[in-house]
Amino acid sequence: MCGIIGYVGSENAVPIIVDGLKKLEYRGYDSAGIAVYGRGGFDVVKQEGRLEALEARLAGSPLSGNMGIGHTRWATHGEPSDINSHPHVGSKNKIAVVHNGIIENYKQIKERLEQRGVRFASQTDSEAIAQLAEYYYDGDIMDTVIRVAGRLEGSYALGIMCLDEPDTLIAVKKDNPLIVGVSEHGRFIASDVPAVLKHTNKVYYLNDMEIAVLREGDARFFNFDKEPLEKTPETVTWSLDGAEKGGYPHFMLKEIMEQPKILRDTISSSMTGSNGDIIDGMDAARFGKVVITACGSAYNAGVVAKYVFERLCRISVEVELASEFRYKDAVIDEKTLVILVSQSGETADTIAAMREAKSKGAFTLSIVNVVGSTIAKEADRCLFTAAGPEIAVATTKAFSAQLVILYILAVRFAARLGKVPPGREREMLSEIESLPAKITEILRQVDSIQKYASTCVGYKNIFFIGRNIDYAIALEGSLKLKEISYIHSEAYAGGELKHGTISLIEDETLVVAIANCERLYGKIMSNVEQVISRGAKVLLIGSCLGAEPDGKLYRIILPESGDLFSPSLSVVALQLFSYYVAANKGLDIDKPRNLAKSVTVE
Ligand code: GLU
Repeated sequence: MCGIIGYVGSENAVPIIVDGLKKLEYRGYDSAGIAVYGRGGFDVVKQEGRLEALEARLAGSPLSGNMGIGHTRWATHGEPSDINSHPHVGSKNKIAVVHNGIIENYKQIKERLEQRGVRFASQTDSEAIAQLAEYYYDGDIMDTVIRVAGRLEGSYALGIMCLDEPDTLIAVKKDNPLIVGVSEHGRFIASDVPAVLKHTNKVYYLNDMEIAVLREGDARFFNFDKEPLEKTPETVTWSLDGAEKGGYPHFMLKEIMEQPKILRDTISSSMTGSNGDIIDGMDAARFGKVVITACGSAYNAGVVAKYVFERLCRISVEVELASEFRYKDAVIDEKTLVILVSQSGETADTIAAMREAKSKGAFTLSIVNVVGSTIAKEADRCLFTAAGPEIAVATTKAFSAQLVILYILAVRFAARLGKVPPGREREMLSEIESLPAKITEILRQVDSIQKYASTCVGYKNIFFIGRNIDYAIALEGSLKLKEISYIHSEAYAGGELKHGTISLIEDETLVVAIANCERLYGKIMSNVEQVISRGAKVLLIGSCLGAEPDGKLYRIILPESGDLFSPSLSVVALQLFSYYVAANKGLDIDKPRNLAKSVTVE
């Protein structure tokens, strides 16, 4: 899941690469490294730890050169260490490589090369690429890259420099993202757009099995038969502000605060704007079932959507983790609508799930934040969230944008099926349109949420409960908290407590109860009583709260809304709660340990 960047042009590559790595650090932060083509060949600095550690090393012994490659790592093969950091240079010091992905047959390649006398320095799978490239190299780097790619099994996005070609940067990819940026002073490669936005908003999206050959004023593309390819650059609309903290202490807080605007943009693009008629191209009546498949928070958005779809459309909805779906031989066919949700559009498991669904004839509809990403390109239909770049590893605004698209989709789908009359359809769409203003109201309560969260840092276990759609959003509340605060938490359906979980409740356990479903209010409040009488403290979040606060119960009151779309409101309170618990613990909120944002490996 690491981030790669490369530059060739008229400027010094080093600050450009280091700055780009800062924008890619959300993808991995075990170590970082840079190689530039300096006066005497490759100059390489690799450093375990955060990017700041690499910067400190570079400050001590500055590098310069007009071409270079950089990497920020999320280790898959080999511990995080200086030696395992990228770039990897072959033992002849001829070819330097940065790699995002996993080479599944690296052991075989390594063994064969070692039998031929090649000495490996690291434990990584990636070094095999550099060594194999040197082994094959016969004076033509493009031939070499094609030959190497033919031997690699697994996934890769590669930036490659060759000692014999001081002005040529090569890139190639399979199943991992790579873009090519074009500015007045040079050419770039990067795992993601924010890394190059400072210099250009003109980018090419590289497809699998395409090679980019970049020089200062030139970007050429070829297939593996060395035939030139005509590609047109796209103009990215994301602004640089999206990738800057803008005065907030963390990206996560900034991104939480951006949600009213993001939702407004996403709603308008999905009602009248660039997403067109959201159910265009879909014959709603054709589908006998809907399957939503995704990972992490996007999966939780799918669980919320299941309640909305089933209630409105009267169609059966299954929600599957993409990592399970891809290997389970799912019972789907051309009468199945498969919805894929992924912020990056590059989530490896979700890509595999999409391909599996397509191979079985299902209609695939994706909800994605990144234009030009693999899922956006390959799904039968793609709806874009207008979240802009999301940098904090724990998602907030992209999740909220996914939710509103799923709501609009469910409403339009239900109307198309004749399950809701036009008047009700309009009513629901305007309820969705009112969400951003209601979120603004919640954001105004930030001080009281912050104050309450500061009293919660000592808890070892926090349980989230809810019923029906409140349970669905409790899953996301729990995930958010554990991701960034490292406090163990679990989400339970309120009705499940008595079937086992209640044995975990003891003095000074915190239970976060979500209560937006009016018809189930009495039921969830019985659960609240049950846990309070066993010593728990309760944070009650919802719009229909009769209970008065006391020493055992604290409440966050949400604006009125029907329960169907209330998860969009609950989640903002839950995000703020998690954020402030983690902030009070002094944790590195934007880069939680062991996690990376866009999970492009299995
Ligand atoms: N497999 C490579 C390594 O462990 C790259 C990891 C990645 O892309 O996340 O260094």
